[in-house]
Amino acid sequence: MSENEHSRVDRSTLVARLKSEPLWDLAVIGGGATGLGVAVDAALRGLKVVLLEADDFAKGSSSRATKLLHGGVRYLAQGQLSLVREALHERAVILANAPSLARPLSFVMPAYRWWEPFTLGLGLGAYESLAGRHSLGPTRRLSRKQMLATLPQVRAEGLKGGVRYWDAQFDDAQLAVTLARSASRLGALTLNHFRVEGFLQEGGRVTGVHGTDSESGAQCEVQARCVVNAAGVWVDDLRQLAAGPAGTPPRLQVSQGSHVVVDREFWPSDEALLIPRTRDGRVLFAVPWQGKVILGTTEQAREDRPTEPRPMAEEIDFILSEVGHYLTRAPARADIRSAWAGLRPLVQPAERAKGTARISREHAVWTEPSGLVCVAGGKWTTYRAMARDVLAHCIAEDRIPPGRDWRVERSTEHLPLERDDTLLRGGIPGADRMIAEGLSEQRVRFAVRHEFARKVEDVLARRSRLLFLDAHAAREAAPAVADLLHAEGILQPGLEDFMSTSEGYLP
Ligand SMILES: Cc1cc2nc3c(=O)[nH]c(=O)nc-3n(C[C@H](O)[C@H](O)[C@H](O)COP(=O)(O)OP(=O)(O)OC[C@H]3O[C@@H](n4cnc5c(N)ncnc54)[C@H](O)[C@@H]3O)c2cc1C
Repeated sequence: MSENEHSRVDRSTLVARLKSEPLWDLAVIGGGATGLGVAVDAALRGLKVVLLEADDFAKGSSSRATKLLHGGVRYLAQGQLSLVREALHERAVILANAPSLARPLSFVMPAYRWWEPFTLGLGLGAYESLAGRHSLGPTRRLSRKQMLATLPQVRAEGLKGGVRYWDAQFDDAQLAVTLARSASRLGALTLNHFRVEGFLQEGGRVTGVHGTDSESGAQCEVQARCVVNAAGVWVDDLRQLAAGPAGTPPRLQVSQGSHVVVDREFWPSDEALLIPRTRDGRVLFAVPWQGKVILGTTEQAREDRPTEPRPMAEEIDFILSEVGHYLTRAPARADIRSAWAGLRPLVQPAERAKGTARISREHAVWTEPSGLVCVAGGKWTTYRAMARDVLAHCIAEDRIPPGRDWRVERSTEHLPLERDDTLLRGGIPGADRMIAEGLSEQRVRFAVRHEFARKVEDVLARRSRLLFLDAHAAREAAPAVADLLHAEGILQPGLEDFMSTSEGYLP
């Protein structure tokens, strides 16, 4: 069967289109969950959309999540029922629209105080009822005997029982790439490795952006009726660029969260473990994922916003020691296969934000005095609701061109995100030639031809997740991946950059 050329990504054509289009309806800065969600929603409504990502899709926070689709149990404790309900609805939408990238997952909370099975059971029962018909499974109290029978690896000493409830998990980076492909299929131009460096302005109003294509070094100007800043923890940097010398006070706070990955032998269960209260009062997870176990996360305030944040030694020690309290066999530093960190964009209240600013506890959409529309905060689970709010905001401010009623929206709620790639893959050689466990030559070529991969890191960190699962294995595979990218016509696959970046994932 011949490969379908239609969905093949040809970067030079994308760049040529970027240069030739005189005016876009919407230009989105940032190819994480938020920006990609906006691009899909806008393209589905028929808008002419361009999305520009400085590095790779999901290079920022959107590949570094705990990979849970969840309503946020802690918001329930704060009585924010509508937030929880919305996120639980979004959980169901992602499960329905991206079924091979997301799945229901049961969680078990061990209890070491006699009353906890009752209090936790009540809270999680309420959590389940908020999901309504989208409940993924019953919440159940477990006796000590049941706990030890199903989860023998949990520390037995002092154990009183536990609670089982249901949420879901997904592949964050792969969902981002899938969103980029969906947006592109709907007519949007989604371009990675293109950094926005400044704004085009007329009379102090933003009329577009300018930036550089990292591959060719070519500079390009992009005119747009409306520019959306969805740059995650870097939203403030772009706000500063738009504000000019007068500057503008920051709106975001940044907190780092780290994870470590170990082999399944430390947590062989198919269920996830939720430790409800660590020494610093947070929750901590042990989650089975892609043949390994993710342990995390932490919360560490940061002043800076590095592109490649690294877990701090004390974060790793904290995770290992907390998990160690609950497992019969505790992992040590030498057992870590990969360790990675992500930055959470937390939005401050918006007294100074203009007009229709819409604030929720989790995300905010507002317009700067320059006319730059900004969106920040939230979580992966609610990316689609955030996109809907951004479009509603642009419509309310008449930022979208007249002549059509954009309110008659086609909803992304029932938009299947995945396509069956069997035919596409079938046309690509190398299915039986393995580069690393689970990574064939065909997979790498597919990533280049149909998933916008341009660098060794794009393949090993976000098309396959090998770097996040086993950093040593990823480094071993890197030269072969670089050769394949070269064979696919990519002149600078970035092998040296990958070898240096990946060092940060080694324990
Ligand atoms: C440790 C951790 C665990 C988490 N766990 C979960 C979870 O389990 N479930 C959940 O639902 N959520 C979770 N989240 C939250 C979720 O990951 C984030 O809310 C979400 O990924 C934010 O997406 P974003 O698109 O706003 O930001 P990002 O993903 O950071 O995207 C912003 C993008 O903008 C690009 N950019 C920046 N500057 C420019 C420029 N000048 N030009 C062009 N592009 C630019 C960046 O390269 C980046 O790719 C977690 C977050 C963290 C940090």
